[in-house]
Amino acid sequence: MLPFIRPDLAQFTAYTPHPEIAKDSSSLLLGPQELDRLDTNESSFDLPSELKQKLAWTYQEVIEANRYPNGDHAQLRQAIAEYVNESANPLTSEFDSTYISIGNGSDELIRALLIATCLQGQGAVLVANPTFSMYEILAQTLGIPVVSVGRSKADFEINLKSAQAAIEQSYAVSNENAAPPIRVVFVAHPNSPTGNPLTVAEQSWLESLPPHISVVVDEAYFEFSQTTTVSKVLERPNWIVLRTFSKAFRLAAHRVGYCVAHPELAATLEKVRLPYNLPAFSQAAAQIALRYRHVLLEVIPQILAERDRLTRAFAQEAKLQTWPSAANFLYLRLRSTTGSTKDLEAQLCQTLKSQGTLIRQTGGGLRITIGSPLENTRTLDRIQSILASAWLRR
Ligand SMILES: *Cc1c(COP(=O)(O)O)cnc(C)c1O
Repeated sequence: MLPFIRPDLAQFTAYTPHPEIAKDSSSLLLGPQELDRLDTNESSFDLPSELKQKLAWTYQEVIEANRYPNGDHAQLRQAIAEYVNESANPLTSEFDSTYISIGNGSDELIRALLIATCLQGQGAVLVANPTFSMYEILAQTLGIPVVSVGRSKADFEINLKSAQAAIEQSYAVSNENAAPPIRVVFVAHPNSPTGNPLTVAEQSWLESLPPHISVVVDEAYFEFSQTTTVSKVLERPNWIVLRTFSKAFRLAAHRVGYCVAHPELAATLEKVRLPYNLPAFSQAAAQIALRYRHVLLEVIPQILAERDRLTRAFAQEAKLQTWPSAANFLYLRLRSTTGSTKDLEAQLCQTLKSQGTLIRQTGGGLRITIGSPLENTRTLDRIQSILASAWLRR
């Protein structure tokens, strides 16, 4: 390793999307377009071509390619604030653009939040695994300590006793190794990869946290779950909601995420993010997606019906353990009488891949994105016949 690189970075590997394709693309006869890509929780539906045409028109007639984009995202922040008002429960009109900060994907905002709260030995973060891996990865690349607790094996509720103990421990006077105190708790609602929304007990524990600990509720799948904690941002300065245009809004290619937070925090995030973090084309895409949200979100009932169809079908499989999901993906595990199922799950992924379906092995199980009805049916058929075949009977 080059001597001027931080030694602690040696343990990291660069993020590879679709690791299954990247690993040995030579052995795959199918191009990405022909695969059922059910491994990254994007929408299977592209933007309708009328909306792409509007976007192309904006590029042709409005965007000056030679100029830096709007650096304060004022218009888009205003449009997002209106959407947040309309999506809050109860409905409100209190959110305005001062509550919003926009990132190059919500990943960028996770990093901005970590910089604003924990950097320079100021704090540690708490996560409950299995969960979205970027919280931990981004914290570690910034040298921020991560405390992790577990979840219930039955329903993936956070082990609240351990979580509370971890927090008390981090603030105890006897904390002699000078580990910084926990400043941020990250939760995904619903969680990825397990699909469960926050329970009443989890929510009330999060609400019980003192003002010097911030609570980040990642609502990347809000449009599928239709349950949100965003109105708490108005009551509690330490409550932060993250959302994204990468999932239900079908804009993963454009990298737009946003944060709803107390105006003082939102203003701080504006200070620590990169100046022109959001390309003009992506700002335009997000504006169009919001303006035509009723069109884009129309397919959600169909995706939820498909999810329920797959849930019922997988529940019939004796070799599978399934859980209910509030998002656009399902989480499964192979049942085992003989210990670890990790290798068998890896084999199942591999076999599916050779047949043209990508799913994700993560968090001690398998995560399958709900795709188009055709993709879902193909994937279900493939999984059923693999399970019925000899290789798992041992
Ligand atoms: C997909 C996802 C995101 C979105 O990340 P972007 O950077 O906005 O694409 C955030 N959080 C969770 C839990 C996710 O699954």
